[in-house]
Amino acid sequence: MSEKYKIPTATIIKTRSQDQKPWDVEAEICVAGAGISGIAAALEAAKLGRKVILVDGLPALGGQAVNSIIGTFCGLFAHGTDRYQFTHGIVDEILDDLGRTGDLFYRKGPGWTTVFYDEIALSRWIEKKVCAAGIEVIVGAVIRDVEFEDRRIRGLNIATRYGDVRVKANGFVDATGDAVLSWLAGLPCREPADGPIYGTQMIVLEGVDESHMPTREEIGERLLKKAKDYGVMREDGLAFFFEGRGTVALNMSHIETPLEPLAASRIGLEGKSQADNAASFLRGEFPKAFDKTRVRAYGLPGVRQTRWITGSYHLVEADIRAGTKFDDAVARTGWGFEIHDKPEGIYWENFEDGHVHYVPLRSMTPRDADNLVAAGRCIDADVAALSSVRVMGPCMAMGAAAAHALDLAGDGSVHQIDLASLRNRLKDNLESTTKRSEV
Ligand SMILES: Cc1cc2nc3c(=O)[nH]c(=O)nc-3n(C[C@H](O)[C@H](O)[C@H](O)COP(=O)(O)OP(=O)(O)OC[C@H]3O[C@@H](n4cnc5c(N)ncnc54)[C@H](O)[C@@H]3O)c2cc1C
Repeated sequence: MSEKYKIPTATIIKTRSQDQKPWDVEAEICVAGAGISGIAAALEAAKLGRKVILVDGLPALGGQAVNSIIGTFCGLFAHGTDRYQFTHGIVDEILDDLGRTGDLFYRKGPGWTTVFYDEIALSRWIEKKVCAAGIEVIVGAVIRDVEFEDRRIRGLNIATRYGDVRVKANGFVDATGDAVLSWLAGLPCREPADGPIYGTQMIVLEGVDESHMPTREEIGERLLKKAKDYGVMREDGLAFFFEGRGTVALNMSHIETPLEPLAASRIGLEGKSQADNAASFLRGEFPKAFDKTRVRAYGLPGVRQTRWITGSYHLVEADIRAGTKFDDAVARTGWGFEIHDKPEGIYWENFEDGHVHYVPLRSMTPRDADNLVAAGRCIDADVAALSSVRVMGPCMAMGAAAAHALDLAGDGSVHQIDLASLRNRLKDNLESTTKRSEV
């Protein structure tokens, strides 16, 4: 310790002022929710030259893609032999940048290619891009009230641990996953009618002996026989093996994800026990591969489908099957129905090779609001249709589309924008059939 060093001892006394006002912030476009849909929306809006504010209740960016450790991008490529890429923009940048640093693994299945990513690398990618784009960020910021008047959201009232904030903007993207803006504005929202859609507590194990890694089919067969012996409720769980890293992300639990604060908190804790049981199953049944594994990380509880908007169009199962190409289509994918409506397993239905289906802008725009566009897992669809379009590929396309719709609407209404201009701006995500060599 230098002799000159003087231990700090002085303090000052402060008392909270009685008339403390919220911090006022203003932007052209406010994006609520910093998951993969909100990040795509915010970056696209910034690229369009808009002043953007990005708000999230978590203290970090990336939503579930980062913080729930989803671990795999699905719905990015066409199904079958001609696996061209459905969505570009932010997707190209992520695949290029994380590919260069070895943070991706392309899993080529018989019909599909999905992309495993390192969630820490994605998290830093998002943070750096958001900073570079000059986006104002408010994290740890729970939106608890919406000012809604004359068909327009005027402002959001937000609670943070450091005080309240009021955000004003001309246009708003609801990328909260739970349709928070619509709900708080008093607009009608949907919930699943026939019981919950289950979420999952993701968990990452490290230290896998790769030379003994069982196949997906071997794990599947053993789960069917032995899941109950280990207290694993779900009999069709998946282990996403990141080759070369010795890690697996386990998607092996089913937890309810109620929209009620006490139950939601309790279930968050219970989910970890289910995930631990899944790890015990792997260690017990495949010791050569998993004996030395440790838990590297538990994600935040993964939430699939809770509450979503009522839009100007309700996307339905038949649209997905038929591949209806709407006039106002803004996103496409070929991902199947993936419905998590039973504790013990999922309903999965694959489409034929080359199948493409679309998301129309109308299913992202609440009928009674002119400056609000939803993106991601809270758009208007039936339970089956949403189970397909909520994967991250189309989520990113919807985020970009939300930014363009609000940009085109300006002070007017998102219900009255020029659709030819919108289609032109989004043509890469609707028409391009370029392929990546890795796929
Ligand atoms: C366990 C699990 C596994 C999955 N597996 C895959 C997969 O392998 N591949 C794939 O592509 N997709 C997968 N999905 C689907 C996909 O991950 C999600 O649908 C997608 O990430 C949703 O992104 P989002 O941006 O719409 O919402 P989210 O990522 O949920 O982001 C919403 C954000 O809004 C914030 N928010 C919510 N309410 C408030 C509020 N009141 N105030 C402030 N902020 C708020 C939240 O904090 C959150 O950050 C999976 C989903 C789950 C749950």
